[in-house]
Amino acid sequence: MNNEAIKIAYLYEDLMNTYGDSGDVKILQFLLKKQDYQTQVDNISLGDPFDAFNYDFVFFGGGQDFEQTVIAQDLQRHQKTLERYINSGHPMLGICGGYQLIGTYYKTSSGTTIKGLDILPFHTVFKADNRMIGDTYYTTQWGDVRAFENHSGQTYFDDSQLQPLGKMITGYGNNPQDGVEGLHYRNFIGSYSHGPILKNLNIAQAIMQMILSWHGKRLAD
Ligand code: GLN
Repeated sequence: MNNEAIKIAYLYEDLMNTYGDSGDVKILQFLLKKQDYQTQVDNISLGDPFDAFNYDFVFFGGGQDFEQTVIAQDLQRHQKTLERYINSGHPMLGICGGYQLIGTYYKTSSGTTIKGLDILPFHTVFKADNRMIGDTYYTTQWGDVRAFENHSGQTYFDDSQLQPLGKMITGYGNNPQDGVEGLHYRNFIGSYSHGPILKNLNIAQAIMQMILSWHGKRLAD
């Protein structure tokens, strides 16, 4: 057994947990256990202190507009630590509502605008006439992914340098026009994929490699 547990921060686990996204964390725990690593998962909820650099992986799951509104203000306390963590190449996965809030803003179904963390230059707007729901199938640098999406927010990149996670074969992904899914920046992955996405073991293995590499460095520091 490896001595030091892999530490996972689960942002607002009690509020942002739509469509079984907690399965992503469970799959990583299972795969890490098979490699003899113990894991510790901390729920970082409203009012909790949080330093991303104490963790090997940060997970931020999906949530409905209501939950996103509930956490929006509290989340801003973590802007600096998450910005430094993501920009210095540490592993994080944001799904749907959690992905949306890494960008500049999300304009919700009620017309209110939730301020995002403004870490990466993209924004999301609610469109009532076209809820994007159904199975998705897309290609990524790690191979094909099959998942499920359910969102009204349409995400648009505001900088042409941003790279998507994948190219759509079936389904919508970020929005109905661009034919791309999610975002991949350094070791941050944002995605609309529930299912959970990490049932696609190619993506789970890629994230595991990121986690183990950062875990080694974190302990050496
Ligand atoms: N509330 C967001 C939307 O509808 C995210 C939904 C989700 O996380 N599944 O776009």
